Order: sequence, then C-alpha cells, then structure tokens
Amino acid sequence: MAQHSCPIPDARIPTTHFAPRGDSSQLNAAHSPTAAELTDCLFFSPADGRIWLNDQRMLLMHSSSFGALRREIIERQGLEQARGLFTRAGYLSGARDARLIRERWPQADAAAVFAAGTYLHTLEGMTRVEPLHFRFDAESGFYEGEFVWHHSCEADEHIAGFGTGQDSVCWTEVGYAMGFVSGLFGHLVVFREVECRGMGHQQCRVQGKTAEQWGDAEHDLSYLNAGSAPFKPEQAPAPAPPASPAEPHSSAGQRPIGASAAFNSAMLALQRVAPTPATVLLSGESGVGKELFARQLHLLSPRHAGPFVALNCAAIPENLIEAELFGVERGAFTGATHARAGRFERANGGTLFLDEIACLDLPGQSKLLRALQEREVERVGGSQPLKVDVRVVAATNLDLRKAVAQGRFREDLFYRLNVFPVQLPPLRERRDDIPLLANAFLRRFCHEYQRSNAGLSMRALKVLLRHDFPGNVRELQNLMERGLIASEEGEAIDVQHLFSNESLPEPVYGVDAHGSLAVPLDEPAKAPALLDSLTRLDQAFTIDGLEARLINEALHTAAGNVAAAARLLGLSRAQFAYRLKKHQPPGPAS
Ligand code: ZN
Repeated sequence: MAQHSCPIPDARIPTTHFAPRGDSSQLNAAHSPTAAELTDCLFFSPADGRIWLNDQRMLLMHSSSFGALRREIIERQGLEQARGLFTRAGYLSGARDARLIRERWPQADAAAVFAAGTYLHTLEGMTRVEPLHFRFDAESGFYEGEFVWHHSCEADEHIAGFGTGQDSVCWTEVGYAMGFVSGLFGHLVVFREVECRGMGHQQCRVQGKTAEQWGDAEHDLSYLNAGSAPFKPEQAPAPAPPASPAEPHSSAGQRPIGASAAFNSAMLALQRVAPTPATVLLSGESGVGKELFARQLHLLSPRHAGPFVALNCAAIPENLIEAELFGVERGAFTGATHARAGRFERANGGTLFLDEIACLDLPGQSKLLRALQEREVERVGGSQPLKVDVRVVAATNLDLRKAVAQGRFREDLFYRLNVFPVQLPPLRERRDDIPLLANAFLRRFCHEYQRSNAGLSMRALKVLLRHDFPGNVRELQNLMERGLIASEEGEAIDVQHLFSNESLPEPVYGVDAHGSLAVPLDEPAKAPALLDSLTRLDQAFTIDGLEARLINEALHTAAGNVAAAARLLGLSRAQFAYRLKKHQPPGPAS
C-alpha cells in the first residue's frame, strides 16, 4: 500500500490511507479487512451470556421472532411508521459497523472498507450481499453502487406474514446500507431497493447514490428521520414535501434531525406531549437545539396555526424582562413613550418558548408563575389584567432542582414548569446522527452561499465522528459553515478547513496485532519523535514495559471499563483482555 503523504504541516492532523476514490474493480480479497479478519471480530462467550462483534454486544435472535415483532409493529403502528422504525434501527447497525471498520482498520484501502460492510451485513445473518459494482469519489462526493441481496431475512418474514405486495420490504437492510456507507464516506448515501422479493421479484436488488444524485430522495430520507411526520403516500411524487434531512431549509422551516436511539426517545416524548396542553420543560446542554425542538413541539400541537414566540431570558437585562414578557403601558417608566404588547400577548393562541429560564430573577419568576396559574397577565404600569391563552415551553441548561435547593429558583414555579420534562441528548451521545446532521447543514449553507455541495472528505468525517462536541449541534453547524467558507468551490471540506491547529482532536494511539508499538495510528511520521521522548523519559524502556503501561493507563482512563479501554488503544476487547492478562502479576490461584 502506498504511503499517503500529508500535505499539512501540523503532524497532529490525522492522515488516512483511504484513497479518496476507487471502485469495486480494485477489490482484492487479500486486502485488510479480509473476510477472515472480520469473522474474527465475532466471538461468543457462552459462559457469561454475551456475543461480541469486536466491542459491541450482539444478539442472536430467531428470525421468526424478529418477524413476529415486525408484524406486530406494522399492525399497531401502520406500514409507514413501522418502515421508519426498522429503517432507523438498520441505520444504527450500519453506522456501528462503519465505526468498527474505521477504528480497527484506520489504514485500510477504501474499496476494502466499503466491501467490509457487505461482508458484515452477511456475517450478521441479514442477507447475503453480492456487490455488482460500486464506484466513489470522496473529493467530489460521488457514490454509485449496485448490490444483490440474496435470501434477505426480512423479505422471508414479510412474505410469511403479508405475502407479496406493491412496496419493497427490506427496510432494516436498506437502513443498514445507508448507515454503513454514510458513516464512512462523508456524504449521505441513500439506498433504494429497485427490486424486492417482497414485490415478487426473484431477488432483491439495491442501488445507492447520494441524495443529490437521486434528486428525489426525500421520500427515502423521511424514513431515516424520527423527527419527520409520517410520510403520506399522496405526497409521493411531489418534488418538495415538508422538511426532511434533505431539505432543512424548506418553507416549513428547520426541524430536528436524527435517527439515533437517544434522538428517537426525545422525539417520541415530544410527540407524546405535543397534542396535550401541558407545560413542557426541555433540558440539555448548550447548543443541543432546544429552540428547534420547541418549534417542533409547537408544529405538532393543536396550536400550530398560532404564533410561536421565543424569548431567551439570558439575553434581556433583568430590569427589562418584565416589560418584555408582559408588555408596558405608555408612561409606565421613563422611555415608555408608547404602549407595547409583551411576549405573552404576542403568543396568544400559540406557544411561548422561554429559553434559559434559570436566568429569570425572583420577581420575574413570581410574575411568570401568576401568569401560568391565572392565565392572565398585567402590563407594566397597567391596571387591567389581560386574558391570555398561551402554552409555555421552558428550557434550561442548568439543573433547576439545584437552583431550587440554592434558593435561586422558586420551587412552586419549578413544579409548575416540570409537568413534562424532556431531556435532549448532547451530540456526543448521538454520534450516529453526525453524518445526517453534517449533510443537512451543508445543504443549507450551500443554498445560502450559492455554492455547490462539496461534501466532507472521508478523513474529515472520521475526525468529526470522534470529536467530543462540547458545543453540541450548534458547534457542528458552525464547523460546517466555516468549512464551506474555508474550502474552494467544488472542493471537499477537509480537516484543515474545519479545525484550527490548536482545537484539533487528539490522535488515537495503539498497539498493532503483534503487540508492537504502532503509534499514533493515524500519523506514522510522528513515531520517531515519540520514540525519542519515550527513551528520554524512561531509560529502561522496553516494548513490553511500554505495552504494560499503555494497557494500565488505558484501563485507568476508562475507569476500569475493559471495552472502553480497548477502544482507546484501537484493540478488540479480546485482544485487550489477552494483553491485560499477560501483564498482570500472577494472582492467587483461582
Ligand atoms: Zn427486499
């Protein structure tokens, strides 16, 4: 394999040996990860009831019981909802497997990496995948692939339950393919079954292209996003149905985007409470998109035709907040030259979103409580209470219980707001959504800046997927905007367009399969300098001693969690456990 030369001066920028383009004609069964190496990732520990695929716990389930579950979900939720659920579950499996490949074979060549997905998909028992052809160019964001799926388990189960019909039925498999390829490629790739045994064809045949290449992928994408409304078949041929991951900038406005389990559970909570009149408290770190969720709640509620009014309590000086919330009468104070309605009045018949509610001072809290209880407000300087019909959605990035305990937040108001709390997950707990979100932001900014969609380079996606995102979705959004501005028209967005040197995520260090030093995995050029510093630090340094130290430090960093420690070193759990045992002093015989 040719060494990839890094054009970027900063040695910490991870390089990759992925060629940015390639196709199925370059496939070589001897290239890592080979079928045998992938099979090695799967192991059973029957004694303690666990099955592992590398460090992910797996489940051996009867195909017929999967079929029964699927049938029951279809019967209870309807075909469209069920299709979304299974597409998203498949997407998550594919995204997990893409992560396995990225982490264990960071230097593998790209054709082998894409082929690995077809093998894992087969290994996991869903279907036997036969690649017909695939071709991709990460620089220009081009992907085209065609595959045959033999004896798909989902098709078997669907036909057993419902017979054949008009629509393709291998939803989990389609989701898997999208999750796997999108989790490696830097672009959202949409797969579609053009033939399916569930439609009476001899075999299932799928095609994959980017959303842009399809041009009409909104229907397919709607199943990936737990945030989109169930797709109505009568919308099918419409060129621009309501917002989906592909159309975050449509007239319907932006919507929360995601397919991950954490995102799904937040969206389900939102969908459950939306039709009720209950007050909702959204909590989550800064930048998780609280206003976007609040807007979505409003759109899903019976008040959707009414106004949505937002106020960030932290952005208004304390002495003005009362006037802002409840309005002022003319002459109420110096400068009040005319009467003005407050946010409560403006939100009448709709939803009032109060962000950073903990920033409201105690007098403001009392007035808010009164407004919630009495359903009326009084303007500053006014004498007549005004009836208002407003649903309040509050949000906080602080622990309000703590603020109550400290006497900074009224307990009665807390209980009034906390009728239905919804916790919004930080981005690092929904990493599988990163390709979906990055794609949606890029499309929006390309539209705003009149640029063509350059997409992310594969290594930029790789860096993003292991970045911790202290600033959450907003940080990703800013990175995409910066990346688009910093890159040339038509050029893929690369690592140096996203991060300045000082903010680059740390590279991953590891030990290779023979137990020898292979650090850092992503940057071979850095190894001699590291060796220098190691020999300076530790006169008696040996590879064995170093390995023992790495193992111990990783275990320490991961707070004793073996799977997490193994990940830190780019090892499988079994490989790590083997080394751990090797370096542990012999204990009392057991
Ligand atoms: Zn099928």
